[in-house]
Amino acid sequence: MSGFVFAEKPIRIEEGDGVYLYDDSGTEYLDAGASYACVPLGHGHEAVQTAVRDQLDRLTYVQASYPVGVRTELYELLADTAPGDIGKTWLCNSGTEANEAALKFARAATGEGQTKIIATMQGFHGRTMGALSTTWKDKYKKPYEPLVGDVDFVPYGDADAVREAVDDETAAVIVEPIQGEGGINPPTKEFLEAAREATDEAGAALVFDEVQTGMGRTGTLWAAEWTGVVPDMLTTAKGLGNGLPVGATLCRDWVAEDYGSHASTFSGGPVISAAAKATVETVRGEDLPAHAADVGAYLREELAGTLENAREVRGEGLMVGVEVKRGANRYLKQLAMDHQVLALPAGRTVVRLLPPLTLERKHADRIVEAMAEVVG
Ligand SMILES: *Cc1c(COP(=O)(O)O)cnc(C)c1O
Repeated sequence: MSGFVFAEKPIRIEEGDGVYLYDDSGTEYLDAGASYACVPLGHGHEAVQTAVRDQLDRLTYVQASYPVGVRTELYELLADTAPGDIGKTWLCNSGTEANEAALKFARAATGEGQTKIIATMQGFHGRTMGALSTTWKDKYKKPYEPLVGDVDFVPYGDADAVREAVDDETAAVIVEPIQGEGGINPPTKEFLEAAREATDEAGAALVFDEVQTGMGRTGTLWAAEWTGVVPDMLTTAKGLGNGLPVGATLCRDWVAEDYGSHASTFSGGPVISAAAKATVETVRGEDLPAHAADVGAYLREELAGTLENAREVRGEGLMVGVEVKRGANRYLKQLAMDHQVLALPAGRTVVRLLPPLTLERKHADRIVEAMAEVVG
């Protein structure tokens, strides 16, 4: 029998256009999850489609050790957008690889004996062995143990705990500016500032995992901007190529200068570089982070004002979590099958909304109406 190793959903999606997806019978769905934030510009955005088509015609692939215009331009663009003095880029194909690289870079660039990684409870950083070791939930880890050792977990938001955990054996602290998979949990400013101070003192690297929060989702291009904290590395993926597989580890010079020998055959191929460049240019050019802040605030207010059975509505920009009183999965099913609204879970009791950043108020209204019917 053919098929894939994980269960598929009962809707066959065949086309996409903007904030909408269409199944094989032509039924229209409002895409309120953007397939885990992967299409910030909406489906089939002309700028990205054209850039990718042109690049395919010109040059599909050349190994990363030959400079190629589009990749060099992407490096410049990312350095220009990155917070503080972060200026160097490592390109890869996914979020977990971006974090894998960050963990390796931290081990290589810090001193002898600095091997320990500090991560957060409820955190999620990917599923390859290194990134998985810094992921919290046993569900993801148990079958694969033993993992890469030397990882300590601190409660997310606990400034004293992170101060205490970081010492002269620490290579890195890895943290999401808002926890996505863990339930859309915003940080405290004190926590991120404590992580910054402690890593500075220890000569360790602070890594912001912006795989989900990046590309304007939380109201600024990078969430780091509103946290006011500049990390040593910023990892990103999901929305970076508007649906094409590209990830990046953005580094300060001290990390990039001593990164060891990490490499990957497909690092920064011309086609995904063209996709990422067009995506970043469009997100910036159309001021979509500000739009996400505006529509996101509207969506959260309307949800909080309308839903009587929600425990909490939280998030920033268009990264929204609705904590419900029962398991979220049956609500998600009803939203999809009865109201043609596609949303996501974040843990057992949170409905997660990560729509394209091009979402308009009328689409937000439709999400709120469907949620009101289903959640009440
Ligand atoms: C999705 C995600 C990852 C893993 O990304 P993949 O592309 O699935 O490997 C890592 N960190 C965060 C915060 C994520 O949301």
